[in-house]
This record gives sequence, C-alpha cells and structure tokens, in this order.
Amino acid sequence: MTDIGHWINGKLVPGTSGRFTEVFNPATGEVQARVALATVAELNAAVADAAKAQIKWAATNPQRRARVMMAFGALINANMEKLAEMVSREHGKTIPDARGDVQRGLEVIEVCMGAPALLKGEATDNAGPGIDIYSMRQALGVVAGITPFNFPAMIPLWKMGPALSSGNAMILKPSERTPSTSIFLAQLLQEAGLPDGVLQVVNGDKETVDAILDNDTIQAVGFVGSTPIAQYIYGRAAANGKRAQCFGGAKNHMIIMPDADLDKAADALVGAGYGAAGERCMAISVAVPVGEKTADRLIEKLLPRIEKLKVGPYTAGDDVDFGPVITAASRDRIKGLINSGVDQGAKLVVDGRNINIQGYENGFYVGPTLFDDVTTDMDIYKQEIFGPVLSVVRKGTYEEALNLVIDNEYGNGTAIFTADGDTARDFASRVNVGMVGINFPIPVPLSYYTFGGWKKSAFGDLNQYGPDAFRFYTKTKTVTARWFSGIKDGAALNFKALD
Ligand code: NAD
Repeated sequence: MTDIGHWINGKLVPGTSGRFTEVFNPATGEVQARVALATVAELNAAVADAAKAQIKWAATNPQRRARVMMAFGALINANMEKLAEMVSREHGKTIPDARGDVQRGLEVIEVCMGAPALLKGEATDNAGPGIDIYSMRQALGVVAGITPFNFPAMIPLWKMGPALSSGNAMILKPSERTPSTSIFLAQLLQEAGLPDGVLQVVNGDKETVDAILDNDTIQAVGFVGSTPIAQYIYGRAAANGKRAQCFGGAKNHMIIMPDADLDKAADALVGAGYGAAGERCMAISVAVPVGEKTADRLIEKLLPRIEKLKVGPYTAGDDVDFGPVITAASRDRIKGLINSGVDQGAKLVVDGRNINIQGYENGFYVGPTLFDDVTTDMDIYKQEIFGPVLSVVRKGTYEEALNLVIDNEYGNGTAIFTADGDTARDFASRVNVGMVGINFPIPVPLSYYTFGGWKKSAFGDLNQYGPDAFRFYTKTKTVTARWFSGIKDGAALNFKALD
C-alpha cells in the first residue's frame, strides 16, 4: 500500500501523526493508497518555514516570478497525460474530462505569466505642492488554499497561480480523496524554479483545516467545497481576522424556452447534467422547460440520448461517457436521494440505481437518472445531489421559470436556451446568479474573467482567478510623498484639501 505524505520545503515527507485516511480508486472500489492527515504541530511548522521562504520570494522581481509560471505551464503541458491519468485514477472521471480539468487550470497559470501587469499600482504626480501619490500591491505573506475532490488539478491551480505569482507563500490543503495531483504539481513547480518552502502541500482533514484557520501567520484563506463547510470556514477565518473567500455548492438551473432549439438543448443537458457523473459545481441539475409542450418534447429528445450513455471505468477510454462517483458513501447517498424522489412523488423516467458494470462490480457507479414532475418541496430539488441525476421542474411561463431560479438558495451558474434575444437579455440582467449561460450550459468564465457564485454558493468577497484573484492575494499600500524644493516652511495644523 502506498502512503502519501506531505510536500514540505521542497521534499516529500511522511506524516508523523499516525493518522491516515484511505484513497480509493472509484472505478474499481479498491483502496489504492493511504494519505497522511497532518496534526496542528505539522501544519504550524510548515507555515513557519513558508513564512521564512516568502520574504525572499516576495522580494524577487515580479517578472522573475512570472517566468516560474511560464516554466510551470510548459511542464504541465509536457506532463498532460500523466496528470490526466493521476486525476482519473483518484477521481474516476474519464481521461478526456481529466485533460480538461488540467487544461482549465493551466489557463489560469497562463494568465499568471502576465502577473506583473496585474500587480501594478496607480500614481498621481503633483497631487499638491511637491506631492506625488502612488499605490502598490504587496503580497499578504502566507496564504492558504483548501480545495475539493472534484477538480484535483484545476482548483489547486486556480489557488496556486495567483497566490504565488503575487509573491505569497501558500499552504495548500487538497482534498484527502484526491491528494496526489497537488503533490505532483508542487514537484513540477520546484522544477520550474519555485524556491523550496514557498508552496507547502499539507494533507489532512478537519483537524488540519482548523489548524489553518487558527494559525496567526496565515493571512488569507481561499476555500472551495460544499456550502456548509464554506460557511463554517468563512466564519472561523473571519473571526480570526483573516481575509477569506469561500466558494460553496450549487443547484444550477437551465431554462428551456418554447422557441429553443430542443436538439441543442437536449445535447447540452446531457453533457452538463451527466458529464463527470454530475460532480461539477457548474453541472446542470435542474431543467426548467417552459410550457407543457416544450417539456414533453424535451423529455422525448432526452430519452434516446440518455439511453446511449456509457458508464464505466476511465481505463475503457472512448467507450465511456462518465465514470463512478467519488466514494461508496457518495453513491449510497445519491441512491438514497433517488429513493426519496420516488417516495415524494416525482416521476422516475430513467433509473440509474441498478447499474452493474461487468468486471467493476465494486466500483462506485450510479447510472444516469432522470426525474420529471419535480417540485420545490422535494429533497431531490432542495439538496445538491452531486451525482448523475437530472430533475425536470415544469413551469408555465418565463416569469415563473425565472422566479424559480431567483428563489433558489444557491447562485453559482445558470443557463437559458432560447432563440429570442430580448428574453435572453432580460434573463442575464435580472437573474441573481454569478455565472450565466445563453445557449451555453456550463458558463465557466475563461481565465482572464473571474469565477464566483452568488447567494449560498460563495461567502466573502472577490472571485477566483482573473483580476479579482490578484486583488484577493495582495493588499494595497498608498504612499504620499513630498519633496520640499520651492515649498514654504510652516507647520500645518488643519486637515485640509491640498492646494
Ligand atoms: P467538502 O466541503 O466536503 O470538502 C472540501 C474541503 O474541505 C476538503 O479539502 C476537505 O478536507 C475540507 N473539509 C471537509 N469537511 C470539513 C470540515 N468539517 N471542517 C473543515 N474542513 C473540511 O467538498 P467536496 O465533497 O470535496 O467537494 C464537493 C463540493 O464542492 C460540492 O458541494 C461542489 O458544489 C463544491 N464545489 C464548489 C465549487 C465552486 O467554485 N463554487 C467548485 C468545485 C466544487
């Protein structure tokens, strides 16, 4: 059995806590490794070393730091297949999807190659007699990233890139379900020229996370995961005086208008609902057709597409559309929710509970599942299922469909499929959701925009990646400077406007 430790001061180190958790291969159900869970003392030691390394790193000129990002990007590209396999082995997603996971993280690193331009301050000359004012963005010091299981490459890269290229040191605590990719990325960063200690990958669970939240040296926490944990981490980090941005769960709706191209809408729903077994925070889990005729035709179009979906292990290559879910507990929870949907009166159109993959009977599989006639009081509507389950909530009018989205407690992503520009524009303007797609089911913004939900999908301020991330990981210092040539002597006692 492989033991996965931590990446500290540029070396792999075993954990000393004696506490481990199992890392599964979800495709087979086998335990493939144990990951060490760091103690408070291990975390604090890693932070202390990171603080020392950060001083020199912050003093390194920004262009040299950007060059590390350039070399890192090249290494990610060169190791794409190895990274994708690593992601699939611990997560279960297909290899093409895992390549996308790495690629969307790499795109953020590409923006970080231009970090010096994003880190510039502002300046005003002659703001008063002999007075110039200028501002600068300085690194915070040691910051932390705490990441979820579902994008083992992309989300750690979203955290590392902006934090490190801004001159911070980072403690990265990846998900204990998918720890290997973060350690390998840290090794690539070392090869790219990142000084030892600037990125510490500390594996762990709640005990480790609490140690991060209570450590006085850590200045900021960037979290991604489920809503209850996001809210908890935001509260505790803020109470301890840290800057925090905590991105949570989602329930993403797609409205399908009667004038939409229903073939395109059905294709989009199948991809966005079942891709990665529904384990994406931007997955569409609720389809909202407007009008009974639209709903009936949509279901007609969905059925053959769903029947064609192939579920299986990532090792089966192109023969598989999506893989298992992350753990046996997650599979059982999803099946329990499907049972509840049936009990609470939803119409189960496609049942994924009894899937059996030959040779992979112990893998954590759930087949594609489709519910019709779902109502807002049902658990399958209220909870984030995070599995391959699509619910159809029928609405009579556009206003009713829009209000359904507005009233939902989550606000990560949403989409509308329509041929009418006015409706699309109205939707984009009025909906209270952070990322909106128009005839585009998973509107994850490109790396030079920013990513973030509204309502219970995000706590704190500023989004992930793009310009917002550079604001989050730096603080502004403003300098007012006066030089005395030609200025009369005399003390100024009043607080007054500059001449
Ligand atoms: P999770 O909340 O269980 O875990 C996320 C991180 O928090 C992990 O590193 C984990 O070790 C840690 N953690 C778990 N329980 C904790 C506790 N009690 N105290 C302190 N730390 C704890 O999330 P997950 O299951 O790994 O990921 C899936 C969730 O992440 C879904 O809800 C999904 O929507 C969400 N997600 C959100 C975004 C986004 O940007 N909004 C992106 C991806 C995933």
